[in-house]
Amino acid sequence: MNEDRLIKQFLELVQIDSESGNERKVADYLQAELEKMGFMVEEDNAGEKIGGNAGNVIARKKGNKEAKSCFFCAHMDTVKPGNGVKPKLENGIITSDGTTVLGGDDKGGIAVILEGVRSFLEENKEYGDIQMAFTIGEEEGLFGAKALDYSSLWQIDGAFFFDSGDDSSHIVVRAPEHYDFAATFHGLAAHAGLEPEKGINAIAAAADAISKMKLGRIDEETTANIGEITGGKATNIVPDTATIKGESRSLNKDKVASQIADMKKACEEAAEKFGAKVDLDIAKSHDAINVSLDSATALMAKEACALLGLEAQFITTGGGSDANIMNGQGIDAVNIGVGMSKVHTTEEFIAVSDLVMAANLVKKLLEVAGK
Ligand SMILES: [Zn+2]
Repeated sequence: MNEDRLIKQFLELVQIDSESGNERKVADYLQAELEKMGFMVEEDNAGEKIGGNAGNVIARKKGNKEAKSCFFCAHMDTVKPGNGVKPKLENGIITSDGTTVLGGDDKGGIAVILEGVRSFLEENKEYGDIQMAFTIGEEEGLFGAKALDYSSLWQIDGAFFFDSGDDSSHIVVRAPEHYDFAATFHGLAAHAGLEPEKGINAIAAAADAISKMKLGRIDEETTANIGEITGGKATNIVPDTATIKGESRSLNKDKVASQIADMKKACEEAAEKFGAKVDLDIAKSHDAINVSLDSATALMAKEACALLGLEAQFITTGGGSDANIMNGQGIDAVNIGVGMSKVHTTEEFIAVSDLVMAANLVKKLLEVAGK
């Protein structure tokens, strides 16, 4: 592992603008880097599908022996403000100049994968097939990962995403299934002073529905929220529309389905009670991560950590990532820490020691797979 090369590459990457939808320059940069490393590189048409200027970058290399295959993934896009990043390295910590995010989320993931794979290949050891994907549009809703054609990938034994906080001994094996929920109530407008009895108050119907919902923490595995409410035009008009938006997540798919069904029922009953109509827009955002500790992916991660003298910490998160999408395709995929901290803020930072640890873990994962 070449620490100087890793840091130089990370600093280069964060200085390439790539807010979501504008990943072109990072995609081109990666194409060149991966070809230098001897990989076949393609870019898919995810950008066309979701309206971005680049697709997912997919790189593969056939193994030099029959051994376990590895898949590594990180996302190319950053949140705003992510353009014109000027990184500063002081006392082993890398930050932006305070006017932008750093973009360690997820350039940190990209840099450690590149350095880990590159330094592994330099040692001329044996390895199985190696595949990598660098995705677009993660921050706006895992769009690149959702548009990726998983059937075009070679068979995968261990799938490792590098897009998480904490150091790389922290390995996410559980994350919730997530539904988005929206309900629009249609009532009837009327003058609020002259003839309110002719109106149907859509805001009152929406409020009634919300008051019947269980929200917040439902149980240890399940949460629900109504996070937005809009409607009405003026204080002297009985409002004819009101929209509420929310979500529910659970580590247990039956529980999230039942919570969403309860929220739907509350809306339908409130609409009926008020003589209003309700349009529901309910969609699964992504599947859960639920990787067994006996799976090849988890066992490889555990062994690779042990080779670095670390005890793997298998953890649960309430968030979502590209790894959720791959799990939804029936492939066990874990999300490993890169040390990114205070992400999505201009105070974002990452420690050099965490980048080094994660790059070493990538290298050890390849060693474990190639045995
Ligand atoms: Zn991320």
